[in-house]
Amino acid sequence: MLKVENVKKAFGPVTVLDGVNLTVNPGEVVSILGSSGSGKSTLIRCINGLEKLNAGKITVDDFDVSKPKELAEARKRSGTVFQLFNLYPHMTALQNITLAPIEVLKRPKAEAEAEGRALLTQVGLGDRADAYPAQLSGGQRQRVGICRALAMKPRYLLLDEVTSALDPEMTSEVLDILAKLAKDGTTMVFVTHEIEFARQISNRIVFLEKGVLLVDLPTEKFFAADGGLAQPRVAQFLSKMR
Ligand code: ATP
Ligand code: MG
Repeated sequence: MLKVENVKKAFGPVTVLDGVNLTVNPGEVVSILGSSGSGKSTLIRCINGLEKLNAGKITVDDFDVSKPKELAEARKRSGTVFQLFNLYPHMTALQNITLAPIEVLKRPKAEAEAEGRALLTQVGLGDRADAYPAQLSGGQRQRVGICRALAMKPRYLLLDEVTSALDPEMTSEVLDILAKLAKDGTTMVFVTHEIEFARQISNRIVFLEKGVLLVDLPTEKFFAADGGLAQPRVAQFLSKMR
């Protein structure tokens, strides 16, 4: 279980997360919606231990990200894919994918490479293992990014606007992969502006507004007139996004 408890995060005088509570159970797909600046990326960065909390607690399978001794274990369990492709430019697709399994998990190179190739095949890039990031399209790079996260066999996959830098065609390439992962039971926390897609794949949708988690509802209820839509801010947000 991934658990965010009463988390507060401020940058100087600006409070960005203001008492956020969120639980993600294994097998769930939870989408995080909210306006620009509402704190979505900050929340993902906190879950990753990339930001220090001002208050509250985040645990990944009971490993506390704020405790230096537990952070590595917590991170092994949660793989993250960011908006901007942060692949190493001097490494091939396959090398990008196998780096952490070999260095962190101490997996034998041949095994890690076989798994890396299998992952690339799964996302339709079986023939691009030896390509460098600069030789790949944005959508292809993002698919390599997803493989790199999956190579660590994370229990939770965190995705922060992984399609927002892509054109519509590349977006659908990547969303197809995510839909497949969701169907296979991958646990995902999905920050997105792709509302229709979130609606299709999520079990639950949460809505962040100025660092406060205003709504946390099963997907169907989120879009219901007496559910999420009963919240004026949610209704306004959804009407603007469509
Ligand atoms: P978007 O949809 O545009 O990606 P977001 O919901 O992901 O937005 P965050 O990136 O979490 O928003 O930012 C939330 C707020 O925190 C913003 O006001 C932002 O300016 C501020 N912020 C984020 N990181 C820092 C930082 N390192 N230093 C200072 N302020 C920051
Ligand atoms: Mg963001």
